[in-house]
Amino acid sequence: MMRKAIFPGSFDPFTLGHLDVVTSALRIFDEVIIAIGYNSAKKGFFNLENRIRIIEASVAPLRATGHQIRICQYNGLTIDLCEREGVYTLIRGLRTTADFEQETIIAQANKKLNPDVETVFIPASQRSSFLSSTVVRDVLLHHGDTSIFVAPGINLEDYR
Ligand code: ADP
Repeated sequence: MMRKAIFPGSFDPFTLGHLDVVTSALRIFDEVIIAIGYNSAKKGFFNLENRIRIIEASVAPLRATGHQIRICQYNGLTIDLCEREGVYTLIRGLRTTADFEQETIIAQANKKLNPDVETVFIPASQRSSFLSSTVVRDVLLHHGDTSIFVAPGINLEDYR
């Protein structure tokens, strides 16, 4: 049986930290579905099309080595996405104890809403445990070098 998992997030933008979580998850799961929670009323920084393009470019080397990665967009509850996909394992990344507390609450709420849903936490890699999309957006806004925070070869200026 194919073991699949959904990695939900805003990915505004997808960072090296997200990429490291996907890379780790692919050691456990046969397919990872990167699900962009995007609400057109709450647009964020990068538009949906560019968020997808950044993710496509970031995961291209993983796909080239045969890994199964799908990218999709969703609105609303993550458990409803689980039902639609028929995939009941969620992946979330943990950087800090603050992440742990927040993510545990979300995981427990999801389990209460649908007891079939399991959440798997993956610890941040050492190289990216400080990294958030917010940091990347701030550096970009102030014309700093974001290339060290995103997948190799990605220039976020190309996606604004
Ligand atoms: P959300 O708005 O759903 O938190 P994000 O795109 O900010 O969406 O994050 C998606 C997931 O990736 C979350 O579980 C978050 O904790 C995790 N994450 C973000 N940055 C990192 C990182 N540097 N290392 C590990 N996990 C991370």
